[in-house]
Amino acid sequence: MYAPKVGDRLESLDTPSMIVDLDIMESNIRKLMDLLQPLGVNIRPHLKTTKSPVLAKKLIAAGAKGGCVAKLSEGEVMAAAGVDDILITCEIIGAVKVRRLVELFRKHRKIQIVVDSEVGATAINAALEEAGIEERIQVLIDLDVGLQRTGVAPELALGLARHVATLGRLKLIGVQGYEGHLQHVHGREERERECRASMAILTGTAALLKENGFDIQVVTTGGTGTAEFCATTPGITEVQPGSFIFMDSDYRNAVGSYFSHSLTVLSTVISKSTSARRVTIDAGLKTLTTDSGFAEAKGMEGVTYTPMGDEHGWLEWGEDGSDIPIGTRVEMIPSHIDPTVNLHDFYYAYRNGVIEEIWPVATRGKVQ
Ligand code: PLP
Ligand code: MN
Repeated sequence: MYAPKVGDRLESLDTPSMIVDLDIMESNIRKLMDLLQPLGVNIRPHLKTTKSPVLAKKLIAAGAKGGCVAKLSEGEVMAAAGVDDILITCEIIGAVKVRRLVELFRKHRKIQIVVDSEVGATAINAALEEAGIEERIQVLIDLDVGLQRTGVAPELALGLARHVATLGRLKLIGVQGYEGHLQHVHGREERERECRASMAILTGTAALLKENGFDIQVVTTGGTGTAEFCATTPGITEVQPGSFIFMDSDYRNAVGSYFSHSLTVLSTVISKSTSARRVTIDAGLKTLTTDSGFAEAKGMEGVTYTPMGDEHGWLEWGEDGSDIPIGTRVEMIPSHIDPTVNLHDFYYAYRNGVIEEIWPVATRGKVQ
């Protein structure tokens, strides 16, 4: 039976397989810590990228304080695996999910949640009361700092904070304001300028809440493209970058190569298609996502990848390129790392060509 194991060489892997260069990944983690730790902010990496408690623990060992998850169901898996200092960055809405939250909080009291509506906050409070839980769950006001996805409008934040203060099972500890629309702004100066404008909204709102007597300890924000700017904004206490650990071509095109590509998807040329300057590989839409452009073939300058349906993709080259024989193994650099990881069951992490660790993508498919 096919069962790759630690100690095997990469050549023993079937394709497509998601592989991680440990030296590069460790260097990315170190670079992030070296960049942000001296600035005095808490680093709470977003675990939506790796979807792995093993990697969450590596980040914590390197200096992170807890992690973020996007969805409640990711939080359930992380907490059960021992990573329970987590902020769930999406609103928890609906009776079913609120009940799940109560069960999670019953066992894991460090969980933090965000709210952006009175109705959402009220429902969570009522469910905790009903469950007879005395302890208060830590809550952050989610603020819209320009992304227009979730988050209360800045002018309504004080009203929402006052409402939360009336709810006996919620403990307001901070504000989250994620500027997701700025992560991929090309050009450092423009990204920084726009980020500082968003941060002014976030820190201004946090200050307003403090002036009104609220004990705002956490002001959390930022991703791979902006964490550095957020961390140097007075008043920001915490940053949430995720993609830096593996990177992707979309991020590299926007922010440059401070972090390097540590994850690729190993694929195989399986057919010589009808064109002289084209072959077909075994990686299509079910292997590499396309929302942020198409993946790239690592180390193959002048070769472009185009998905050709669910299971296949083309590699094409120009007149001065040379043929790629059937059977060639090609490393594909994903264009958008988080949803690409979500397509795979395992990571095969290697050093010097030898598999050193195998990690399940534990929160794969945990979209609830
Ligand atoms: N914080 C929140 C709320 C997010 O939604 C995301 C990503 O979408 C991140 C942080 C991490 O961003 P990145 O993976 O771009 O570093
Ligand atoms: Mn993403």
